[in-house]
Amino acid sequence: MTHVFHRQLNTTLPRAVSARGISITDADGKSYLDASGGAAVSCLGHAHPDVLAAMHEQIDRVAYAHTSFFTTDVAEELAADLIEHAPAGMSHAYFVSGGSEAVEAALKMARQYFVEIGQLQRRHFIARRQSYHGNTLGALAVGGNQWRRAQFAPLLMAVTHVSPCYEYRDRQPGETPEQYGARLVQELAGVIETLGADSVIAFVAETVVGATAGALTPVPGYLRGVRELCDRHGILLVLDEVMSGMGRTGTLHACEQEHVVPDLMTIAKGLGGGYQPIGAVLAQGRIVDTFARGSGLFQHGHTYIGHPVACAAALAVQRVIRRDGLLAAVRRQGQALTSRLQATFGDHPHVGDIRGRGLFQAIELVRDRADKTPFDAGLKLHARIKRQAMQCGLMVYPMGGTIDGQRGDHVLLAPPFIVTDGELDAIVERLARAVAGALEGLPA
Ligand code: PLP
Repeated sequence: MTHVFHRQLNTTLPRAVSARGISITDADGKSYLDASGGAAVSCLGHAHPDVLAAMHEQIDRVAYAHTSFFTTDVAEELAADLIEHAPAGMSHAYFVSGGSEAVEAALKMARQYFVEIGQLQRRHFIARRQSYHGNTLGALAVGGNQWRRAQFAPLLMAVTHVSPCYEYRDRQPGETPEQYGARLVQELAGVIETLGADSVIAFVAETVVGATAGALTPVPGYLRGVRELCDRHGILLVLDEVMSGMGRTGTLHACEQEHVVPDLMTIAKGLGGGYQPIGAVLAQGRIVDTFARGSGLFQHGHTYIGHPVACAAALAVQRVIRRDGLLAAVRRQGQALTSRLQATFGDHPHVGDIRGRGLFQAIELVRDRADKTPFDAGLKLHARIKRQAMQCGLMVYPMGGTIDGQRGDHVLLAPPFIVTDGELDAIVERLARAVAGALEGLPA
């Protein structure tokens, strides 16, 4: 009997009793390889001594001080560290406790920016289908995942959704990746024109799509085209790097590889590496300056923003990543993961696509590789794979089904940056067994 209100009400979960390196052990002594970093969170693995030491030290110094009264050394140091390594023009970090809160704060910052400069007619957000930006109502409104939104309609904000950049499914025969990207930018331009360019606040997108579609990378030039379009119309670009950021794709921020600088960027998950709940919005100086010159405050706030112990954990995570050269490790081990996935699943009759960047990769399962038909949503193949994987001692992050236009079953892999070659072998071997087990007995 559990009194914890878990998301899944009719499932008994194993109890995690210890976690070290890339493994979690349950109360029965069974060990699970954490091949998804939980939900792309644990970038340093579990029980990293430097992070634990930094947290202990901070708890002894100041465990909590409300930010309407005080700032702390550790919050200042973390913000300075993030800004030093942020895309050009970013000047401030606004701390929150997680990804959804970061997205909510970014949406409000974008709205307040236009209020401050007197463009009150700007009311619309544009985002993409097949995207996930969090589970709070504002984040859910910009999210384009019908399965998560459906029960809560009408959502609090009207948001227009455009096509995702989903090369495997939507690039036409004969179309180059660049032409495909340009077509998507054209589609966005059409939507902006229909809404009225001066009525749009921001375009919101995940740089690399995570949870809803499994490591969808943008085609070359697509996000640059989006940036130019936004600039032409004075529309803000909000990039959500809650899942894909903080080193996961092999550069600190995924947008670096697109040569695109957003106006606002959300980060979380890997920021604190799971040691503490923490997220942030990184903001361009001109936006923060507008608030400073205008009303003098950002009309927002939560009790735990800038929590000192969370900041200490996040600062330690950043220092370990740099000291141990872990961005290079992500690129190297990312290639090692790709080649293992290709060797094991490249000719698999039900694996249609293997994709991703760095240690953020996914396989997409299909009934038929030739026409990319997904499995029937009712089969819940992704959930079967998750169950089988847990039996094999493997944590992966499956999503999917063909529910309300969400196409395909995906398995996302996002192991900690410290993953070894031997652990990658074990991950892919166990995943192959889990996929085989999940497919067994399904209608052909
Ligand atoms: N944005 C993206 C891109 C995410 O992947 C997620 C979570 O998966 C969120 C926002 C929400 O983050 P959180 O679950 O920390 O609220």
